[in-house]
Amino acid sequence: MSRVLIIGAGGVGRVVAHKCAALREVFTDICLASRTLSKAQQIASEVKGEIEIAQLDADRVSDTVALIRSFNADLVIHVALPYQDLAIMDACLEAGVDYLDTANYEPPDQARFEYRWQWDYQQRFQSAGLMALLGSGFDPGVTNVFCAYAQKHLFDEIHEVDILDCNAGDHGHPFATNFNPEINIREVTAPGRYWEQGQWKQTEPLSVSREFDFPEVGLRRAYLMYHEELESLSLHLKGLKRIRFWMTFGEAYLNHLKVLENVGMTGIEPVSFQGQEIIPLQFLKVLLPDPASLGPRTQGQTCIGCLIHGVKEGKPRRIFLYNVCDHQSCYQEVKSQAVSYTTGVPAMIGAKQILTGQWRQPGVFNMEQCDPDPFMNDLNHFGLPWQIKEFGADEELLQH
Ligand code: NDP
Repeated sequence: MSRVLIIGAGGVGRVVAHKCAALREVFTDICLASRTLSKAQQIASEVKGEIEIAQLDADRVSDTVALIRSFNADLVIHVALPYQDLAIMDACLEAGVDYLDTANYEPPDQARFEYRWQWDYQQRFQSAGLMALLGSGFDPGVTNVFCAYAQKHLFDEIHEVDILDCNAGDHGHPFATNFNPEINIREVTAPGRYWEQGQWKQTEPLSVSREFDFPEVGLRRAYLMYHEELESLSLHLKGLKRIRFWMTFGEAYLNHLKVLENVGMTGIEPVSFQGQEIIPLQFLKVLLPDPASLGPRTQGQTCIGCLIHGVKEGKPRRIFLYNVCDHQSCYQEVKSQAVSYTTGVPAMIGAKQILTGQWRQPGVFNMEQCDPDPFMNDLNHFGLPWQIKEFGADEELLQH
């Protein structure tokens, strides 16, 4: 018997609700809570069997504590926005339940991606005997588990990791983002950063790019970006010399983004408009297509994986460990496109590891700190099968 409270009825929340509701032997009772009740209602009407719903503003810690207690939850799966991470962690501590999220905390007024704020909860979760599992989406999430699996089974030493994220889906809009536009644009317009020989190196936003031949998708140009899993993986992978993150973007996306940036529409500082303060990026979010509406119209695939270079039994080895996911197959299964699907499925699988005791331990953990094997098996069972492609150790795979 386990009772799970899902917070956030957006694109990812829909997938988590569908997947948990289809696995009642683990998730016996489910409550989906969100700011806008009608969105939770809609999802509840789609999923298998009955789930409860509730209206909740998760910025209000006392309201979240009251809901956790009245529903008698064992675990909170937080798939609202990164701004709520700390408030929901506080509520979990007060109510005495485990916590899981898919994105690290961001203060609303600064686009900074750091685990520091959440790692600071280590002592409190440990002494309360509770677990907080951070970043159980795809990237972060599956990419961290891929690295842990490679470290455990495929390499004696890992020297270089390049995380490559390609969404080759076409939604037919001139410009749209596949997950929350505010979070997405904050991430993409931030300076690039990667870790090499113990040091962080910074690059201008989207100024460094390489071409990579993605399995089943083909040659795509990917841009160097900072991504939060670099922070934890650079600490937890032994013998690592360099780790970078790359994401593909089409030309139309980049051109629109440049124009929007040039005219100030991606700013997060308030501006005065007709006697009212507005934040340009939040206004832009209202104008852009709702990511949840992209599901029925997105065709094509995503391919996300880790290109890993290291040594096995004294010989150099280079592999790409990856998953390919099809937008239309996801839509047919859970009424969401692949970006929400590839995030929601790992959130459900991470929750399963906690509730079945496979991963449960007191403290705050990143995914690569847990045993990758049960999670990797579950990826194959629950819709995100992975594959390994071997390359010659000297092949130049990231072309200028
Ligand atoms: P959406 O914007 O589609 O959904 C967010 C939902 O959370 C909305 O329903 C929203 O309510 C609700 N919400 C926002 N604020 C609150 C609040 N204060 N209290 C209660 N509910 C709230 O986002 P996505 O589903 O695309 O993304 C969800 C999370 O997943 C984000 O944190 C995102 O960063 C993360 N993510 C992680 C990825 C990974 O691979 N690790 C990849 C993609 C996303 P309302 O409808 O009222 O606005």
